[in-house]
Amino acid sequence: MKDVMKRALLFDGSAMISVWNMPKAAQEGARLHGMSDDAAEVFGKVLSVTAYMAAGMKDTRDKLTVIVEGDGKLGRVVTCGECGARVRGYVSNPKERLSPGQTQAAMLGEGVISVIKDLGLEQPYRGYGKIVKGDVAGDFAGYFMLSEQAPTALALACTFENGVCKVCGGAAATALPGCKEEYLVVLEDIMRNFTDMGAALAGGGPEQLIQEHFGHFSPAYLPDVTPEYRCTCSRARSAGMIRAIGKKEALSILAENGEIDVHCEFCGKNYSFNAQDIDKLFNEE
Ligand SMILES: [Zn+2]
Repeated sequence: MKDVMKRALLFDGSAMISVWNMPKAAQEGARLHGMSDDAAEVFGKVLSVTAYMAAGMKDTRDKLTVIVEGDGKLGRVVTCGECGARVRGYVSNPKERLSPGQTQAAMLGEGVISVIKDLGLEQPYRGYGKIVKGDVAGDFAGYFMLSEQAPTALALACTFENGVCKVCGGAAATALPGCKEEYLVVLEDIMRNFTDMGAALAGGGPEQLIQEHFGHFSPAYLPDVTPEYRCTCSRARSAGMIRAIGKKEALSILAENGEIDVHCEFCGKNYSFNAQDIDKLFNEE
């Protein structure tokens, strides 16, 4: 099964239903960071909601960053998304596991969700939410409501078994500008069917789920989105970062370490620059 996100407009375009499943992307992220299944299941949910948000961005240069900063076992969760639902991310403590009797809430703890969207405007958009429930879906629904004024019924699921992702995705019914209150009530009602999102995604593809639950509203499908785990790091970008710290600082690190290593937290890659590389880098300017 290929990673896919289906989105459709409902009620003359005043609401949208999205259903997606992206186990390959989630598994790639978990693999790159050597995550425990417990860590990967929470990370996958955050990655999945990031893909949903990124799918809504219009320009290929648009990007967003989600930082979930809680006092739980995972530490900080950082994810990035780009137009077309290309995502990447990491967590502070990828090997952590739940102790017997603990629920997923112990992974995130309590804290703050920050979302930074760079939409090519002068100032990036910044929105905040809280993690209080620790179930990711409930906390992000709170964020959408309070920070984006977009009432959204959200269900998420991510399950891993021995490093293999079974499902990672969700369903989101969101009110667009002009959505009548009565439509919202109907959507929320239908979304209550997704109490076990994991079972729903395991049992049917996104389009099948939309047809099954929303088919009687004649959904108008938008083009498919293919979520994908992809890092944007490169040697050229790393060189840019070294240029940004300045020649003096770069030479001092070089003198101390013999080379400069730029480590990418999103995919674990290392880019090494020796004295010759550094010399070339600053003389190219
Ligand atoms: Zn990378």
